[in-house]
Amino acid sequence: MAHQVHNPMFIPPADYVPKFWARVAVGSSDTCWPWLGKDITTHGYGRCHYAGHNVIASRVAFYLATGTNPTGMCVCHHCDNPICCNPSHLFLGTQSDNVRDSMRKGRQRHLRGAAHWTAKFKGTDKMKWKITDKRRLDPNARARGEKQGSAVFSDDLIRVIRRWYSFGLTQMRIAEFFGCDRSTIGYIVRHKAWQHVV
Ligand SMILES: [Zn+2]
Repeated sequence: MAHQVHNPMFIPPADYVPKFWARVAVGSSDTCWPWLGKDITTHGYGRCHYAGHNVIASRVAFYLATGTNPTGMCVCHHCDNPICCNPSHLFLGTQSDNVRDSMRKGRQRHLRGAAHWTAKFKGTDKMKWKITDKRRLDPNARARGEKQGSAVFSDDLIRVIRRWYSFGLTQMRIAEFFGCDRSTIGYIVRHKAWQHVV
């Protein structure tokens, strides 16, 4: 994303590393690990405090995991999920890589009107996609919409939702992330729905 902040990076004090990862919903290598902190940028990135600076959480995650200082470069997401801090979903790119990637994924926000990728959604749908776009996990889930209700969640996503809940994410925050109703998340985490998924 073109707005990525290029803060300087510093060698972290020893106690910083476990504190940082405690604020990430660490899962398996193939799932997204959302930032658990309350501070989220308008573009959906987690924001944290690092050596006296406000920095993007995924950039810190990349630095701590790889030891490569990303200063001057973009930390991009393979998963197109800005809040994700899973190092295996992050890669280093130049600003132009990042813009090209974002164009390819159809989320270049400078487009307006009919050219904008949200143009095909109407009314409340459009609002909904605006919100979920920031924190979505599965780009395909967006395209299906609320008409299909429960169908947007694959078995894997159900496991992710239950795992995040067990990590301490509130139902409200998970619902916000997926752009669904809180009660849906309630049913899932209480095993009232998707009981076949273990
Ligand atoms: Zn991810």
